[in-house]
Amino acid sequence: EAKGQGKGRQVSYTAEMDQRTAEQSRLAADLRTALDTDQLYLLYQPIVAMPGGELYGVEALVRWTHPERGPVGPGVFIPAAERTGLIVPLGSWILQEACRQAADWLATLQDDAPRTVTVNVSARQLREAGFAEEVEAVLRRTGLPPHVLTVEVTETAVFDGGTALTELRAIAELGVNIALDDFGTGHSSLGLLRTCPADILKVDKSFVDDITEGGQNAVVVAALIGICDGLHLRAVAEGVETAEQAAELYRLGYRYAQGYHYARPLPAAEIEARSRCGVAA
Ligand code: C2E
Ligand code: MG
Ligand code: MG
Ligand code: MG
Repeated sequence: EAKGQGKGRQVSYTAEMDQRTAEQSRLAADLRTALDTDQLYLLYQPIVAMPGGELYGVEALVRWTHPERGPVGPGVFIPAAERTGLIVPLGSWILQEACRQAADWLATLQDDAPRTVTVNVSARQLREAGFAEEVEAVLRRTGLPPHVLTVEVTETAVFDGGTALTELRAIAELGVNIALDDFGTGHSSLGLLRTCPADILKVDKSFVDDITEGGQNAVVVAALIGICDGLHLRAVAEGVETAEQAAELYRLGYRYAQGYHYARPLPAAEIEARSRCGVAA
């Protein structure tokens, strides 16, 4: 890269960063209002059993309809919420709402209810002292049995150091399942799988994307199922978009998947309807 060009890019890159930071601050301010005014809601994406595609569990995914901008994706507002600390009250609301919904499904659907309801937890939440106590309190308040809840964290969040691992262990002690999200994309070390009380490993979409083309990712995906089997972890393949990918994953030994091939994130009522007939798609 030419020196002059590099410098020019540096300047515009910084300006872009400033703009993005300003944009995130605006969003965070609006998000604070959103929390109090019903602009947020949860969708639930089915996690299915292969090869049949029966609904096994769901992952709660937050959505925001901004009064002027319309829908804003979590890929945009979650980072803003993390940066400002707003993720802590936002995450509390998400946890409470998902557990309330899960308890409701259990009461109305009984044996047909999703076996597990997964909630994404940010590094920032996990670092808060007393997060495990909060989980315990939410379970008590909603009456949800701990084994129905799965707390999903990224490897990076666990590696954050400090108290994250302690909190995670305390959550696992409650009987709540722990899933490692986006596995393979962060600063993962296989050692983490021994020190962290994980039950579920979610193989990131980026690895699943080209497995049918026989690329290097196919080797990674094949190796990960071996590790999961050996360590008694449940492997979930994320971002499965085609029947070919599903077939290849099944052939490699995967038994759980999530992705548009089976279902998009859906409103709670739609999950209930599909649970009653035992299918995801
Ligand atoms: P994630 O936890 O890895 O969630 C999976 C994302 O992949 C979701 O995007 C989902 O809609 C999308 N997805 C699922 N299957 C497919 C597929 O087959 N193809 C494609 N192209 N995408 C697929 P979403 O809902 O936009 O969420 C993005 C990220 O935002 C999540 O990634 C998670 O990191 C974060 N997020 C979402 N909801 C929450 C939440 O309630 N709390 C926290 N802390 N983070 C959240
Ligand atoms: Mg997730
Ligand atoms: Mg994920
Ligand atoms: Mg992902």
